[in-house]
Amino acid sequence: MTPDVRDRADRPARLESRNGAGGGTIPESAWDRALHLIGRADEVALACHVTPDGDALGSMLAVAFVLRSMGKRVVASFGDRIFAVPRLLRFLPGQEMLVPPEEFPAAPELLITFDSSTFERLGLLSDNTARAREVIVIDHHPSNAGFGTLALIDATAAATAMLAEQLIYRLGGGLDRDIATCLYAGLVTDTGSFRHSSTTPAVHQMAARLVATGLRTDEIARELWDRSPFGLLKVLAAALERVTLEEGPTGGMVWTYITRVDRAAYGLPYAELEGIIDIVRRTDEAEVAVVLKEDDQGAWQVSTRSKGAVDVGAACAALGGGGHHNAAGYTSHAGVEETMAALRRELGKA
Ligand code: AMP
Ligand code: MN
Ligand code: MN
Repeated sequence: MTPDVRDRADRPARLESRNGAGGGTIPESAWDRALHLIGRADEVALACHVTPDGDALGSMLAVAFVLRSMGKRVVASFGDRIFAVPRLLRFLPGQEMLVPPEEFPAAPELLITFDSSTFERLGLLSDNTARAREVIVIDHHPSNAGFGTLALIDATAAATAMLAEQLIYRLGGGLDRDIATCLYAGLVTDTGSFRHSSTTPAVHQMAARLVATGLRTDEIARELWDRSPFGLLKVLAAALERVTLEEGPTGGMVWTYITRVDRAAYGLPYAELEGIIDIVRRTDEAEVAVVLKEDDQGAWQVSTRSKGAVDVGAACAALGGGGHHNAAGYTSHAGVEETMAALRRELGKA
Protein backbone atom coordinates (compact mmCIF):
# COMPACT_ATOMS: atom_id res chain seq x y z
CA MET A 1 0.00 0.00 0.00
CA THR A 2 1.42 3.38 -0.92
CA PRO A 3 1.37 5.99 1.84
CA ASP A 4 -1.19 8.20 0.13
CA VAL A 5 -3.64 5.35 -0.38
CA ARG A 6 -3.41 4.50 3.30
CA ASP A 7 -3.82 8.17 4.21
CA ARG A 8 -6.90 8.49 2.08
CA ALA A 9 -8.65 5.79 4.04
CA ASP A 10 -8.01 7.85 7.18
CA ARG A 11 -9.57 11.02 5.86
CA PRO A 12 -12.70 12.30 7.51
CA ALA A 13 -15.81 10.91 5.85
CA ARG A 14 -16.97 14.39 5.02
CA LEU A 15 -13.89 15.10 2.92
CA GLU A 16 -13.93 11.66 1.36
CA SER A 17 -17.45 12.10 0.09
CA ARG A 18 -16.63 15.56 -1.18
CA ASN A 19 -13.64 14.25 -3.07
CA GLY A 20 -15.86 11.80 -4.84
CA ALA A 21 -14.70 8.54 -6.29
CA GLY A 22 -11.69 9.99 -8.09
CA GLY A 23 -9.32 10.03 -5.16
CA GLY A 24 -6.13 11.95 -5.68
CA THR A 25 -2.40 11.53 -5.92
CA ILE A 26 -1.29 14.31 -3.57
CA PRO A 27 0.12 12.91 -0.32
CA GLU A 28 -1.52 13.99 2.92
CA SER A 29 1.83 15.28 4.11
CA ALA A 30 1.87 17.80 1.23
CA TRP A 31 -1.62 19.05 2.10
CA ASP A 32 -0.56 19.33 5.74
CA ARG A 33 2.49 21.34 4.80
CA ALA A 34 0.34 23.65 2.65
CA LEU A 35 -2.04 24.27 5.56
CA HIS A 36 0.92 25.01 7.80
CA LEU A 37 2.46 27.50 5.37
CA ILE A 38 -0.86 29.24 4.77
CA GLY A 39 -1.74 29.21 8.45
CA ARG A 40 1.37 31.12 9.50
CA ALA A 41 1.25 33.69 6.65
CA ASP A 42 -0.33 37.13 7.08
CA GLU A 43 -0.17 37.86 3.40
CA VAL A 44 -0.60 35.34 0.60
CA ALA A 45 0.32 36.18 -3.00
CA LEU A 46 -1.47 34.26 -5.73
CA ALA A 47 -0.42 33.90 -9.36
CA CYS A 48 -1.83 31.99 -12.31
CA HIS A 49 -0.47 31.39 -15.79
CA VAL A 50 -0.34 34.12 -18.42
CA THR A 51 -3.32 34.69 -20.73
CA PRO A 52 -5.40 32.99 -18.06
CA ASP A 53 -8.19 30.60 -18.95
CA GLY A 54 -11.19 29.75 -16.78
CA ASP A 55 -9.24 27.15 -14.82
CA ALA A 56 -6.27 29.39 -14.04
CA LEU A 57 -8.23 32.50 -13.07
CA GLY A 58 -11.22 30.67 -11.58
CA SER A 59 -9.11 28.51 -9.28
CA MET A 60 -7.06 31.47 -8.14
CA LEU A 61 -10.04 33.73 -7.40
CA ALA A 62 -11.89 30.95 -5.56
CA VAL A 63 -8.96 30.42 -3.21
CA ALA A 64 -8.50 34.21 -2.91
CA PHE A 65 -12.06 34.54 -1.59
CA VAL A 66 -11.44 31.92 1.07
CA LEU A 67 -8.06 33.28 2.16
CA ARG A 68 -9.59 36.75 2.43
CA SER A 69 -12.41 35.42 4.60
CA MET A 70 -9.74 33.88 6.85
CA GLY A 71 -8.41 37.39 7.45
CA LYS A 72 -5.34 37.08 5.21
CA ARG A 73 -4.13 39.92 3.05
CA VAL A 74 -4.51 38.55 -0.45
CA VAL A 75 -2.95 39.79 -3.64
CA ALA A 76 -3.63 37.99 -6.93
CA SER A 77 -2.30 38.56 -10.41
CA PHE A 78 -0.97 37.09 -13.65
CA GLY A 79 2.13 38.14 -15.51
CA ASP A 80 0.87 39.40 -18.85
CA ARG A 81 2.66 42.38 -20.37
CA ILE A 82 -0.73 43.89 -21.14
CA PHE A 83 -2.67 43.18 -17.97
CA ALA A 84 -6.34 42.60 -18.78
CA VAL A 85 -8.83 39.92 -17.83
CA PRO A 86 -10.02 38.30 -21.07
CA ARG A 87 -13.54 39.44 -21.97
CA LEU A 88 -14.75 35.83 -21.70
CA LEU A 89 -13.83 35.77 -18.01
CA ARG A 90 -15.04 39.20 -16.93
CA PHE A 91 -18.15 37.63 -15.42
CA LEU A 92 -16.01 35.98 -12.74
CA PRO A 93 -16.57 37.49 -9.29
CA GLY A 94 -13.65 38.61 -7.14
CA GLN A 95 -11.75 40.60 -9.75
CA GLU A 96 -11.33 43.48 -7.30
CA MET A 97 -8.71 41.25 -5.67
CA LEU A 98 -6.54 41.38 -8.82
CA VAL A 99 -3.58 43.72 -9.11
CA PRO A 100 -1.37 44.32 -12.16
CA PRO A 101 2.02 42.55 -12.05
CA GLU A 102 3.90 45.77 -11.21
CA GLU A 103 1.94 46.02 -7.95
CA PHE A 104 2.64 42.41 -7.02
CA PRO A 105 5.01 41.91 -4.05
CA ALA A 106 8.58 41.64 -5.33
CA ALA A 107 9.54 38.89 -2.88
CA PRO A 108 6.41 37.37 -1.33
CA GLU A 109 6.63 35.46 1.91
CA LEU A 110 4.21 32.87 0.52
CA LEU A 111 3.14 32.54 -3.09
CA ILE A 112 0.67 30.02 -4.53
CA THR A 113 0.60 29.33 -8.27
CA PHE A 114 -2.46 27.98 -10.12
CA ASP A 115 -2.62 25.89 -13.29
CA SER A 116 0.90 26.87 -14.32
CA SER A 117 2.87 23.90 -15.63
CA THR A 118 6.19 25.72 -15.67
CA PHE A 119 7.91 28.64 -14.07
CA GLU A 120 7.97 30.39 -17.46
CA ARG A 121 4.18 30.25 -17.75
CA LEU A 122 4.08 32.80 -14.92
CA GLY A 123 5.41 35.40 -17.35
CA LEU A 124 6.30 38.69 -15.67
CA LEU A 125 5.65 37.13 -12.26
CA SER A 126 8.35 34.49 -12.66
CA ASP A 127 10.92 36.84 -11.05
CA ASN A 128 8.61 37.46 -8.08
CA THR A 129 8.18 33.69 -7.82
CA ALA A 130 11.92 33.11 -7.88
CA ARG A 131 12.30 35.55 -4.97
CA ALA A 132 9.39 34.17 -2.91
CA ARG A 133 10.30 32.38 0.30
CA GLU A 134 7.76 29.59 -0.14
CA VAL A 135 6.02 28.66 -3.39
CA ILE A 136 3.09 26.23 -3.39
CA VAL A 137 2.37 24.91 -6.88
CA ILE A 138 -1.23 23.79 -7.45
CA ASP A 139 -1.57 22.16 -10.84
CA HIS A 140 -2.81 19.18 -12.85
CA HIS A 141 -0.50 19.18 -15.87
CA PRO A 142 1.30 15.85 -16.32
CA SER A 143 4.28 17.81 -17.67
CA ASN A 144 4.63 19.78 -14.42
CA ALA A 145 7.95 18.71 -12.93
CA GLY A 146 7.21 20.60 -9.73
CA PHE A 147 8.97 23.93 -9.47
CA GLY A 148 8.55 25.84 -6.23
CA THR A 149 8.99 24.57 -2.68
CA LEU A 150 5.81 22.49 -2.35
CA ALA A 151 3.97 20.59 -5.08
CA LEU A 152 0.22 20.01 -4.90
CA ILE A 153 0.17 18.40 -8.32
CA ASP A 154 -2.34 15.76 -9.38
CA ALA A 155 -2.25 14.84 -13.06
CA THR A 156 -5.39 12.73 -12.63
CA ALA A 157 -7.44 15.85 -11.78
CA ALA A 158 -9.51 17.14 -14.68
CA ALA A 159 -8.87 20.73 -13.62
CA THR A 160 -6.81 22.72 -11.15
CA ALA A 161 -10.22 23.80 -9.85
CA MET A 162 -10.67 20.31 -8.38
CA LEU A 163 -7.52 20.78 -6.31
CA ALA A 164 -8.56 24.32 -5.38
CA GLU A 165 -11.86 22.94 -4.06
CA GLN A 166 -9.98 20.43 -1.89
CA LEU A 167 -7.70 23.13 -0.57
CA ILE A 168 -10.73 25.27 0.31
CA TYR A 169 -12.31 22.46 2.37
CA ARG A 170 -9.02 21.67 4.04
CA LEU A 171 -8.66 25.32 5.01
CA GLY A 172 -12.03 24.99 6.71
CA GLY A 173 -13.80 27.04 4.05
CA GLY A 174 -16.98 26.24 2.18
CA LEU A 175 -18.67 27.14 -1.07
CA ASP A 176 -20.83 30.15 -1.70
CA ARG A 177 -22.17 31.16 -5.07
CA ASP A 178 -19.22 33.39 -5.95
CA ILE A 179 -16.62 30.80 -5.02
CA ALA A 180 -18.58 28.10 -6.82
CA THR A 181 -18.88 30.25 -9.95
CA CYS A 182 -15.10 30.61 -10.06
CA LEU A 183 -14.52 26.89 -9.57
CA TYR A 184 -17.22 25.96 -12.07
CA ALA A 185 -15.56 28.15 -14.70
CA GLY A 186 -12.42 26.08 -14.24
CA LEU A 187 -14.16 22.73 -14.25
CA VAL A 188 -16.31 23.42 -17.27
CA THR A 189 -13.46 24.98 -19.26
CA ASP A 190 -10.97 22.18 -18.76
CA THR A 191 -13.44 19.36 -19.35
CA GLY A 192 -14.74 21.02 -22.52
CA SER A 193 -18.22 21.26 -20.98
CA PHE A 194 -17.97 17.76 -19.53
CA ARG A 195 -17.12 16.27 -22.93
CA HIS A 196 -13.47 15.28 -22.54
CA SER A 197 -12.38 11.87 -21.27
CA SER A 198 -11.23 13.60 -18.08
CA THR A 199 -14.91 13.87 -17.09
CA THR A 200 -14.96 11.30 -14.28
CA PRO A 201 -17.71 10.70 -11.73
CA ALA A 202 -15.72 12.96 -9.38
CA VAL A 203 -16.06 15.78 -11.92
CA HIS A 204 -19.83 15.45 -12.00
CA GLN A 205 -19.98 15.14 -8.22
CA MET A 206 -18.03 18.35 -7.87
CA ALA A 207 -20.28 20.02 -10.44
CA ALA A 208 -23.28 19.00 -8.38
CA ARG A 209 -21.81 20.61 -5.26
CA LEU A 210 -21.12 23.79 -7.21
CA VAL A 211 -24.50 23.99 -8.91
CA ALA A 212 -26.21 23.44 -5.54
CA THR A 213 -25.00 26.89 -4.47
CA GLY A 214 -27.43 28.40 -6.96
CA LEU A 215 -24.99 29.44 -9.65
CA ARG A 216 -26.32 30.06 -13.16
CA THR A 217 -24.90 27.41 -15.46
CA ASP A 218 -26.78 28.92 -18.42
CA GLU A 219 -25.28 32.37 -17.90
CA ILE A 220 -21.79 30.98 -17.39
CA ALA A 221 -22.07 28.91 -20.59
CA ARG A 222 -23.22 31.94 -22.56
CA GLU A 223 -20.34 34.08 -21.26
CA LEU A 224 -17.77 31.41 -22.01
CA TRP A 225 -18.89 30.08 -25.38
CA ASP A 226 -22.02 31.54 -26.83
CA ARG A 227 -21.15 35.14 -27.52
CA SER A 228 -18.50 37.09 -29.41
CA PRO A 229 -18.09 40.40 -31.23
CA PHE A 230 -19.07 40.52 -34.91
CA GLY A 231 -15.39 40.73 -35.87
CA LEU A 232 -14.86 37.16 -34.75
CA LEU A 233 -17.01 35.90 -37.61
CA LYS A 234 -14.88 37.85 -40.09
CA VAL A 235 -11.63 36.60 -38.58
CA LEU A 236 -13.00 33.07 -38.48
CA ALA A 237 -13.88 33.41 -42.16
CA ALA A 238 -10.26 34.35 -42.93
CA ALA A 239 -8.97 31.43 -40.85
CA LEU A 240 -11.30 28.95 -42.56
CA GLU A 241 -10.46 30.37 -46.00
CA ARG A 242 -6.87 29.18 -45.57
CA VAL A 243 -7.45 26.02 -43.56
CA THR A 244 -5.38 23.05 -44.74
CA LEU A 245 -5.91 19.32 -44.42
CA GLU A 246 -2.74 17.31 -44.84
CA GLU A 247 -1.37 13.88 -44.08
CA GLY A 248 -0.31 13.87 -40.43
CA PRO A 249 1.74 11.45 -38.37
CA THR A 250 -1.28 9.24 -37.65
CA GLY A 251 -4.24 10.14 -39.81
CA GLY A 252 -4.83 13.66 -41.04
CA MET A 253 -3.78 17.00 -39.64
CA VAL A 254 -5.93 20.09 -40.09
CA TRP A 255 -4.43 23.49 -39.48
CA THR A 256 -4.79 27.20 -40.02
CA TYR A 257 -3.47 30.51 -38.75
CA ILE A 258 -4.71 33.93 -37.72
CA THR A 259 -2.52 37.01 -37.99
CA ARG A 260 -2.47 40.25 -36.02
CA VAL A 261 -3.54 41.99 -39.23
CA ASP A 262 -6.65 39.76 -39.47
CA ARG A 263 -7.68 40.92 -36.00
CA ALA A 264 -6.65 44.56 -36.35
CA ALA A 265 -9.19 45.14 -39.12
CA TYR A 266 -11.97 44.46 -36.59
CA GLY A 267 -10.25 45.53 -33.37
CA LEU A 268 -10.56 41.96 -32.19
CA PRO A 269 -8.56 41.13 -29.03
CA TYR A 270 -6.34 38.07 -29.11
CA ALA A 271 -8.32 36.35 -26.35
CA GLU A 272 -11.39 36.15 -28.60
CA LEU A 273 -9.60 33.50 -30.70
CA GLU A 274 -9.76 30.84 -28.02
CA GLY A 275 -12.77 28.99 -29.45
CA ILE A 276 -11.51 28.69 -33.02
CA ILE A 277 -9.58 25.50 -32.33
CA ASP A 278 -12.88 23.88 -31.30
CA ILE A 279 -14.30 24.50 -34.76
CA VAL A 280 -11.19 23.33 -36.58
CA ARG A 281 -10.77 20.18 -34.50
CA ARG A 282 -14.23 18.88 -35.50
CA THR A 283 -12.79 17.71 -38.81
CA ASP A 284 -13.50 13.99 -39.22
CA GLU A 285 -10.54 13.47 -41.53
CA ALA A 286 -8.04 14.83 -39.00
CA GLU A 287 -6.52 13.20 -35.94
CA VAL A 288 -4.64 16.37 -35.02
CA ALA A 289 -5.79 19.99 -35.24
CA VAL A 290 -3.57 23.05 -35.01
CA VAL A 291 -4.31 26.77 -34.88
CA LEU A 292 -1.50 29.32 -34.95
CA LYS A 293 -2.54 32.61 -33.39
CA GLU A 294 -0.33 35.68 -33.69
CA ASP A 295 -0.45 37.62 -30.43
CA ASP A 296 -0.09 41.38 -29.98
CA GLN A 297 3.69 41.06 -29.66
CA GLY A 298 3.97 39.18 -32.96
CA ALA A 299 4.70 35.76 -31.43
CA TRP A 300 2.74 32.71 -32.56
CA GLN A 301 0.70 30.99 -29.88
CA VAL A 302 0.21 27.46 -31.12
CA SER A 303 -2.89 25.53 -30.03
CA THR A 304 -2.90 21.80 -30.71
CA ARG A 305 -5.54 19.13 -30.19
CA SER A 306 -5.47 15.36 -30.64
CA LYS A 307 -8.30 12.84 -30.76
CA GLY A 308 -6.12 10.43 -28.78
CA ALA A 309 -3.71 8.63 -31.09
CA VAL A 310 -1.04 11.35 -30.93
CA ASP A 311 0.43 12.87 -27.76
CA VAL A 312 0.39 16.57 -28.64
CA GLY A 313 1.47 17.36 -25.07
CA ALA A 314 4.80 15.62 -25.67
CA ALA A 315 5.30 17.42 -28.99
CA CYS A 316 4.51 20.82 -27.45
CA ALA A 317 6.72 20.14 -24.44
CA ALA A 318 9.60 19.36 -26.81
CA LEU A 319 8.98 22.73 -28.44
CA GLY A 320 9.14 24.61 -25.16
CA GLY A 321 5.46 24.54 -24.19
CA GLY A 322 3.34 21.88 -22.58
CA GLY A 323 -0.15 20.74 -21.80
CA HIS A 324 -2.01 17.47 -21.88
CA HIS A 325 -2.04 14.42 -24.16
CA ASN A 326 -5.01 15.73 -26.15
CA ALA A 327 -4.68 19.52 -25.70
CA ALA A 328 -1.43 21.41 -25.61
CA GLY A 329 0.32 24.52 -26.78
CA TYR A 330 3.54 26.48 -27.07
CA THR A 331 4.92 29.80 -28.26
CA SER A 332 6.86 30.08 -31.51
CA HIS A 333 8.96 33.03 -32.62
CA ALA A 334 9.49 31.64 -36.14
CA GLY A 335 7.22 32.22 -39.15
CA VAL A 336 4.16 30.13 -40.02
CA GLU A 337 5.91 27.72 -42.39
CA GLU A 338 8.92 27.25 -40.14
CA THR A 339 6.68 26.76 -37.11
CA MET A 340 4.64 24.13 -38.92
CA ALA A 341 7.77 22.34 -40.13
CA ALA A 342 9.10 22.07 -36.57
CA LEU A 343 5.72 20.92 -35.30
CA ARG A 344 5.41 18.23 -38.01
CA ARG A 345 8.84 16.95 -36.98
CA GLU A 346 7.88 16.68 -33.31
CA LEU A 347 4.44 15.19 -34.01
CA GLY A 348 6.18 12.51 -36.06
CA LYS A 349 8.03 11.47 -32.89
CA ALA A 350 5.06 11.84 -30.50
P1 AMP B 1 -4.81 26.29 -25.54
O1 AMP B 1 -4.60 25.70 -26.89
O2 AMP B 1 -4.25 27.66 -25.41
O3 AMP B 1 -6.24 26.17 -25.10
O4 AMP B 1 -3.94 25.41 -24.53
C1 AMP B 1 -4.17 24.03 -24.41
C2 AMP B 1 -3.33 23.50 -23.29
O5 AMP B 1 -1.96 23.66 -23.59
C3 AMP B 1 -3.56 24.19 -21.97
O6 AMP B 1 -3.98 23.22 -21.06
C4 AMP B 1 -2.26 24.79 -21.56
O7 AMP B 1 -1.94 24.33 -20.29
C5 AMP B 1 -1.25 24.27 -22.54
N1 AMP B 1 -0.46 25.38 -23.11
C6 AMP B 1 -0.87 26.27 -24.02
N2 AMP B 1 0.10 27.15 -24.33
C7 AMP B 1 1.17 26.80 -23.59
C8 AMP B 1 2.52 27.31 -23.44
N3 AMP B 1 2.95 28.39 -24.14
N4 AMP B 1 3.33 26.69 -22.56
C9 AMP B 1 2.91 25.61 -21.85
N5 AMP B 1 1.68 25.08 -21.95
C10 AMP B 1 0.81 25.65 -22.80
MN1 MN C 1 -4.90 26.65 -18.06
MN1 MN D 1 -6.14 23.53 -16.15
